[in-house]
Amino acid sequence: MSTLIETIDYQKTLELVAAGLKSRGVIRLFFDLDDTIIPNREIFVFYEKKCLDLLASQLPEVPRQQLNEQFQQLNNKSHEVIGVSPKKWLRVLSSIAEIYPTISPAALTQSLAILNEIYSTPSTFLPGAQETLSTFHDAQAPISIVTHANASWTWRKYSWLDLDRYLPPEAMVIVDENGHKTDIEWAQGIKRFSVLPTEAIIAGDSPRTDINPALRAGVPPQNVFWIKRPEYWSVYKEDVPKEVTRLTSISELINVLITTS
Ligand SMILES: [Mg+2]
Repeated sequence: MSTLIETIDYQKTLELVAAGLKSRGVIRLFFDLDDTIIPNREIFVFYEKKCLDLLASQLPEVPRQQLNEQFQQLNNKSHEVIGVSPKKWLRVLSSIAEIYPTISPAALTQSLAILNEIYSTPSTFLPGAQETLSTFHDAQAPISIVTHANASWTWRKYSWLDLDRYLPPEAMVIVDENGHKTDIEWAQGIKRFSVLPTEAIIAGDSPRTDINPALRAGVPPQNVFWIKRPEYWSVYKEDVPKEVTRLTSISELINVLITTS
């Protein structure tokens, strides 16, 4: 149970957050989901390693680093062709099977099953993310999530995390998993809520699919926040203009708004 002081402090925080948004002319927040609100990279790394362990056990003569690099090259290549669709794993494993025909069909089937576990692993919140969503919700600041992923997986995440506590289903913007999250998708996502890019704050972890497209869509650099995670997929790397604020966690956005209100 909260003490009176804590309740008063929280009310003050909500007022300052609302004032911070108002001073920027912001009426809606747009957040990326994977590796901005929830840890995702770690799940991919875990299951990719598990899959590679299995493949390596079938290929004792192949240096592990060579196998890792081939797998990542095929993974990156498939991203350019079919985006983030889970179907990419079939492409990657088919190519691996062509390179290494001695891998048994059973091992390939098991590898695919391992990689598909990525999509059935229940999501958790990154540190501070739940409190951040809760604070914005309580400050009556509308939140949208703009995510580039498989739709059924996205709705599982929404359900696992009970995101309906913070935003209704219609505030979820799911970008086609077979396409790419570019400035067009960000601009459409923002427009869907009758918000101008200058009235939006966006936060995301990916320079290529969040930060730079949002800037090109017209979101002012002072309203774009780059959540820099310790590790991210190489296909998302790009230079980010220095005007964009770097944060280590989305929860720091609350402090930024409070101190600039
Ligand atoms: Mg992301």
